[in-house]
Amino acid sequence: MMEGRGNRHALVLPYPIQGHINPMLQFSKRLESHGLRITFLVPNSDPSSLGIDAGSIKIKPISDGSDTDVVTGDDLGTSINAGMRRFEIKVRESLRGFLESDEYHDDPADVMIYDSIISWALDVSLEFGIRGAMFFTQPCFVTAVYYLVGQGVVRVDEKGRSVEGLPPLMSMLEFRDLPSFVAQGEAYPGLTRIFFEQFSNFREAKWLLFNTFFELEEEVVNWVANQWPLILTIGPTIPSLYLDKRLANDKDYSLSLAKPETETCINWLDSKDPDSVAYVSFGSLASLGEDQMVEIARGLKRIKKNFLWIVRESEEKKLPQGFADEVSGKGLMVRWCPQLQVLAHQAVSCFLTHCGWNSTLEALSLGVPMVVMPQWTDQPTNAKLIVDVWGAGVRIKADGTGMVTAEEVEMCINDIMVEEKGKAIREKSSRWKELARMALEGGGSSDLNIQKFVSDISLRA
Ligand code: UDP
Repeated sequence: MMEGRGNRHALVLPYPIQGHINPMLQFSKRLESHGLRITFLVPNSDPSSLGIDAGSIKIKPISDGSDTDVVTGDDLGTSINAGMRRFEIKVRESLRGFLESDEYHDDPADVMIYDSIISWALDVSLEFGIRGAMFFTQPCFVTAVYYLVGQGVVRVDEKGRSVEGLPPLMSMLEFRDLPSFVAQGEAYPGLTRIFFEQFSNFREAKWLLFNTFFELEEEVVNWVANQWPLILTIGPTIPSLYLDKRLANDKDYSLSLAKPETETCINWLDSKDPDSVAYVSFGSLASLGEDQMVEIARGLKRIKKNFLWIVRESEEKKLPQGFADEVSGKGLMVRWCPQLQVLAHQAVSCFLTHCGWNSTLEALSLGVPMVVMPQWTDQPTNAKLIVDVWGAGVRIKADGTGMVTAEEVEMCINDIMVEEKGKAIREKSSRWKELARMALEGGGSSDLNIQKFVSDISLRA
């Protein structure tokens, strides 16, 4: 790997939540292996509090002017709605301050790679003569949905629960499959605005980078490529070593905002037979009702196989009393795990997931079939794609009251892990894993796009 000041320098600016830091830091690592130098700007915090060990990548905290921590937990909707404007004002100011500093002048950047949900970062970047690359942490398909709704091409009637004007490639979407910020825009005005603002200035970005791979979203990528600035699919961003299960326990840089219980998880998984564990996680933000947690607990207790369930600290009180003892041996609950290592482990063969985009792409890339239980944001659309387009999962169904029963949890997991009817899904999942690996291998679609991006950067603006 080339090192040193002669190399091109990229600034990377994520919105500081787990599902955005992960892919942007992983992508930074990949760019570094192509000879770029990276300064990873983290709004809001002190890097030690983030627990990021990014090796040779320079982590540069920039203040958002508040004492609050990285956004996690139950009040995300409210805190983002209320805090996003304040965040923008303060981080704009801090970013300007950094770009005016001697530190920056001594080592200026060739490009700023910024999170699509902070599209205003491009204005600052261009003001300082730095070209912008917009990084999308959601699938291209979902991005196209936001775009078309924002343009008024797709019309959503929240009260009538209907959607009209979908182009043929999206015709499979029903109202319930829309991202929640579109289907329930009135409930999340601040967030809805942010997702539409992704397109306020995107034509001024030099590159649009998507954490996806061409083969997964071929039709929609071709469709938007005809209308938008240069689109580059560069995913999955996950470290290549995870694409090969034999390397799953190798060391890699840490990416977690929460401390993963790595040893406990991996030792426990090592003690289990191959394909005998269902992994269950709702990501870093989703919060389930207590009744729903109890039903999931009852369902997991009934499955024929074992389970590893991520129950964040804020969710623990919702578990039935004494549950951990009742399922001891068969089930393990931890607050946070090294998810890539878990998904790559030979014991794991099913993922009950909330369908966050990172979790979805990680499961597809590691060949783990999914039981989909979307909660909000782009998850309903991702769930639809997983089940009906990519054939890599089954949808868990809620009853008339919106509750997913224990029996349904049990049936869906058994369908994937035990029953003959899960065979086609297991095979499809293995195929996606193969295609993800091929996209990243030398000469694959994502590899070529990354090479193009790196060589474009090397040309002076
Ligand atoms: N993750 C993890 N350990 C866990 C649960 C999740 O490392 O116990 C990681 C996961 O691998 C993914 C990210 O956290 O990269 C969650 O992002 P996603 O988009 O799936 O969901 P979000 O948290 O944004 O809802």
